[in-house]
Amino acid sequence: MPQPLIERYRDYIPLEPGDPIVSINEGSTPLVEAPRLSERIGAKAYLKIEGANPTGSFKDRGMTVAVSRAKGRGAEAVICASTGNTAASAAAYAVRAGLTGAVIVPEGKIAIGKLAQALIHGARVIALEGNFDDALVIVRELAERHPIELVNSVNPYRIEGQKTAAFELIEELGGPPDALSIPVGNAGNVTAYWKGFQEWDTSPILYGFQAAGSAPLVDGAPVANPETIASAIRIGSPARWEEAMNAFNTSRGRVAAVTDEQILDAYSWLASNEGVFCEPSSAASVAGLLTHGLQTVDGMDKPETVVCVLTGHGLKDPDTALGTAPPVINCVNDITAVEHAVFD
Ligand SMILES: *Cc1c(COP(=O)(O)O)cnc(C)c1O
Repeated sequence: MPQPLIERYRDYIPLEPGDPIVSINEGSTPLVEAPRLSERIGAKAYLKIEGANPTGSFKDRGMTVAVSRAKGRGAEAVICASTGNTAASAAAYAVRAGLTGAVIVPEGKIAIGKLAQALIHGARVIALEGNFDDALVIVRELAERHPIELVNSVNPYRIEGQKTAAFELIEELGGPPDALSIPVGNAGNVTAYWKGFQEWDTSPILYGFQAAGSAPLVDGAPVANPETIASAIRIGSPARWEEAMNAFNTSRGRVAAVTDEQILDAYSWLASNEGVFCEPSSAASVAGLLTHGLQTVDGMDKPETVVCVLTGHGLKDPDTALGTAPPVINCVNDITAVEHAVFD
């Protein structure tokens, strides 16, 4: 029987005794072996399919906890800034909790599936003439002025929920992987994985990957106008900067950049070689390993097992898929013509 995350890891999630459990049975996502990727990188590779969460991204792990706490403390509304997936998730969990939801997204820069989700769940969707970083500044201020719960990953309950993905990996593999590869945007998720690994006394190497046009952690400075096709990691000023850098350093891993071309290559390659369709941002975790390899600091053994976190589902962003894949073959209603179309 599928179980809400909060029940599965109850002892590790700091909700208050009277808080309701607001859940859509998130988490417990598939961990899939990736034989062809393993061959290419020279280590046993697994894919953590976070697109299998109820709204199609890992954001649900954090949202179940953040919205449960919000409901428990009597909030009537939730708000977030979002590149899309937080909006979709917040909108769905707000419905479950009987709260109203408002989401601020960067105008024209969110994948169409995510927009559809936020709207169909009845959230008030505001398209800001600005980027994600601008939107986050505004929602932080609004949450100060109004009795509305901020559910971005600056909310500590988001991190508490998202860390459960690390627990699942440890349980499923019978121990931690040697390394974890993860896309990095606002840097909440890498912070969460590290917290989860540390709470269970493990410390795999963390490899984080940012898009080259949006790589503040790699550059060492905020990026004023971040640009990348990978819209979920198009963030120039990550909220969890310090914690993420601490995680990379302490785990003896690193953060590096991948170009949009490398991201899209990995995205198509995964779909056509492993049968897994993730969104472009997610593919940064695979593109990073293919581009930079499994680097180690002096004296460390090369990792033998690595988990790539595929953060969101490919269906979120059909425009990128259709713009990347070969076209449909049109055909007249005739057996011979169809025969040619199929077999030539
Ligand atoms: C939110 C998101 C990310 C980035 O996670 P951060 O916690 O912001 O670093 C990556 N991929 C997808 C699909 C996302 O939705």
